[in-house]
Amino acid sequence: MHQPPAVERPTTVEAGGKWHATESLDALVALESSPDGLSQGEASTRLARYGPNALPEGRRAGPLRRFLRQFNNLLIYVLLAAAAITSGLGHWIDTGVILAVVLVNAIIGFVQEGRAEAAIAALHRMLAPQATVLRDGQRLRVPAEQLVPGDVILVEAGDRVPADARLIEASRLKAQEAILTGESVPVEKSTEAVAEDAPLGERRGMLFSGTLIVAGQGRAVVTATGSATEIGRISGMLGAVEELTTPLLRKMDAFARWITALILFGAGLLLIYGHFVQHHPFEELFMTVVGLAVAAIPEGLPAVLTITLAVGVRQMADRHAIVRRLPAIETLGALTVICTDKTGTLTRNEMMAAALALPAGRYRVTGDGYLPDGEILPEAGAHGEDTALAALIEAGMACNDSALVDGPDGRAITGDPMEAALLVLAEKAGRLEERRGIARLAVIPFDAAHRYMATLDKMPDGRARLHVKGAPEAVLALCEHEVAPGDGARPLELAFWQAETERMAGEGLRVIALARREAEEDERPTPETLTGGLTLLGLVGLIDPPRAEAIAAVAECQSAGIAVKMITGDHAATAAAIAAKIGIAAPERVLTGRDLDRLDDALLVEQARLTNVFARTTPEHKLRLVMALQASGEIVAMTGDGVNDAPALKRADAGVAMGITGSDAAKEVADLVLTDDNFASIAAAVREGRTVFDNIRKVISWTLPTNAGEASAVIVALLAGLALPFSPLQILWVNLVSAGSLGLALAFERAEGDVMRRPPRPVNAPILNGELVWHVALVSVLFLTAIYAMFNYATDRGYPIELARTLCVNQLIVLKIFHLFYIRNYYTTSLTWEAARGTPAVWITVGVAVLGQFVFTYAPFMHTVFATRPVALMDGAIVIGVGMAFFAIVELEKQIRLRLGNSGRHEGRKTERAMERG
Ligand code: ADP
Ligand code: MG
Repeated sequence: MHQPPAVERPTTVEAGGKWHATESLDALVALESSPDGLSQGEASTRLARYGPNALPEGRRAGPLRRFLRQFNNLLIYVLLAAAAITSGLGHWIDTGVILAVVLVNAIIGFVQEGRAEAAIAALHRMLAPQATVLRDGQRLRVPAEQLVPGDVILVEAGDRVPADARLIEASRLKAQEAILTGESVPVEKSTEAVAEDAPLGERRGMLFSGTLIVAGQGRAVVTATGSATEIGRISGMLGAVEELTTPLLRKMDAFARWITALILFGAGLLLIYGHFVQHHPFEELFMTVVGLAVAAIPEGLPAVLTITLAVGVRQMADRHAIVRRLPAIETLGALTVICTDKTGTLTRNEMMAAALALPAGRYRVTGDGYLPDGEILPEAGAHGEDTALAALIEAGMACNDSALVDGPDGRAITGDPMEAALLVLAEKAGRLEERRGIARLAVIPFDAAHRYMATLDKMPDGRARLHVKGAPEAVLALCEHEVAPGDGARPLELAFWQAETERMAGEGLRVIALARREAEEDERPTPETLTGGLTLLGLVGLIDPPRAEAIAAVAECQSAGIAVKMITGDHAATAAAIAAKIGIAAPERVLTGRDLDRLDDALLVEQARLTNVFARTTPEHKLRLVMALQASGEIVAMTGDGVNDAPALKRADAGVAMGITGSDAAKEVADLVLTDDNFASIAAAVREGRTVFDNIRKVISWTLPTNAGEASAVIVALLAGLALPFSPLQILWVNLVSAGSLGLALAFERAEGDVMRRPPRPVNAPILNGELVWHVALVSVLFLTAIYAMFNYATDRGYPIELARTLCVNQLIVLKIFHLFYIRNYYTTSLTWEAARGTPAVWITVGVAVLGQFVFTYAPFMHTVFATRPVALMDGAIVIGVGMAFFAIVELEKQIRLRLGNSGRHEGRKTERAMERG
């Protein structure tokens, strides 16, 4: 692994690495940096010198170890024992075939495991942490790995600190440093230096890699990266490789092990019975029993299920949904409710100020997105030269952390889209240049708890002013006056502004209010001290168009029996208007955060189920809603992005974090991360989740009956003392052809057409249910019948036993293939073009199996090894005909089952509805 060299400290610093005891500015000098950060060139030089900012990874077993691990398996032990015995008896061909089976099994297992691990590794890469850094004075998002000592980083609530750093600016900053100090109460951070011997927990001027920012904002200079950080020193190792498994798969793994043990026990009994009661010669009997065990044991099952999961993980990643916790794949398929954010998830989060309401009148703003072209047009009552308009635009520029970036591919923004929209508004008024003259002195960052942002600014005229922007209710509560047309101020007409807010919100606009007051330069505003005395400047209404694909995805979820609920911090009327546009059911029924606070838990359970739009909520409400919905038995997905959303995400059955706007805190507790923040990706993940579950069920439904059918043919022969329809070696051959390959095709199956029209599956429904047991029984009987019919046909016609057995082996493989085609469409008919076309995986595996059978049947060396004989064309046709008959029978049974199932489901819904009414 890469080991960064020990960090060489510049010699100018007297602290000798005691950064917490060094003043911020001295630290900047000592690290040869500046408040605007390093240049890109210097950063690259330092990266080469210090190495990447990463901790050495946990070590992975080497390829040889992983290959050898494939042999650590009960069935393989049995086979190896059998190989030893056959070689002892001098049956070299048998030994060779057994060893070939062992080897092929190990290779298949090795390759599959490798693919599964590659899928996991790809997920880890996609979730690599990012950091915000200043390079050449520009704010950039870079992989945290690229940070170097001297880099100036920006952190805010929700960020995982990417390296050890000395603070140069801190605004209400708090960090949770439990991973270093064990102290779970967040500590306040400031820029002060502390005593040299201060313990880690008291080094207030430092940020430590791996700790979590829980409040505020800060700017800091990186002092140590990689293994040189505090966390690097104590942990050294990190990032153990996660295993690709889920509770269901673990259960199936255990089940497969039980079955194996049971079969081996049964095989032992048969051996004793055959030898002592039926007096079969031991050698042949032994080989038969080994063949039987191989036929019956579903040894490939766990590996194929793992691949099914890996395929699903990759499909989801392709659809912008990254699974962080694999068990979530199962949960996603069983969701009954999705609670989603509005802004950015259902809407595009590309805002434009479209309407203004000022004391002197209303304005309409024209234009398109963030483009500068557009005008601010007065509507009835407003006059063009409005001092309030000038003040509002000024406040919008000052109380703003965003930036407009004009690059070669057009215009982009950084920061909050709503704030960028305010810059565009200033640009349309021809006043954006003035922003340079405004100097920020202090800030209260936006927080969903108080719903506004405030800045203390030194204006171009030298005066200090406090600017506030935020939700109208929050800002109006702080205002005593409003600007009067002309100049001066008059008392606030609260009722008028509330009506204006309702009016604009009712049109689906996101409404914010702006206010200001004169201030002292050395004032340090906090939410506690900012309690009033502001003058209102006006309201801005912003449009945020719905995402077209979200509308389709909401409809898809609702038709899949999944309720979609919008949970937003926005105004009730805005939320209702957007919900209606997006197609959420019953959009007019809105509950606000205040309503929720009035409901006790029991009432909330009822209301949460009936309501689909929740407005002016805080993250605490999200948690209550998740719990209320879960109390009525729902399986709930909840989206979130902020640090305060973490508890709700953790509690939800599927926590979904936003990949772009989401904080590290939210992403770390989430089960799923959306790389495009788009609701449509949740719907896609649900679809994939359901498909994975279907495919898991298909793999099982194919493997178990197929094995049982094959094994029962042998058992019947043994118990009834009949001639075996296939020789022990031939059973091994069948296993070789079908085990890893045919069943594997099912892992790649695409979703069946009805996957998003079915109601969610009950989450704890067992896979091994009555339906599957019945299917195993039916298929076993049909296999048995077909094989003995073929055997009798051959003996009746006077064929030698070799030819009869060759026919039976071919029959068995043909049956398995037809069974595969039947299982592929388990929920819908197989008899459509779409259904019959299949995936490349199916055709490849079937092609391989068919080719194998031709070699097996017609190649002279196979005649020697497996005692086979060439089959006549007519007999081959009969074999295929029997397969088709089998297919017709099971397909007919499916049609009957589907009809019955559908009417049963309708009955079920009716009674449910009746119960609701009653
Ligand atoms: P949403 O669910 O739409 O993302 P938020 O919780 O982010 O809602 O915001 C709730 C309200 O807080 C917004 O309607 C707006 O009035 C206000 N708000 C949001 N972001 C900011 C900000 N950066 N500055 C000031 N006010 C804001
Ligand atoms: Mg938001």
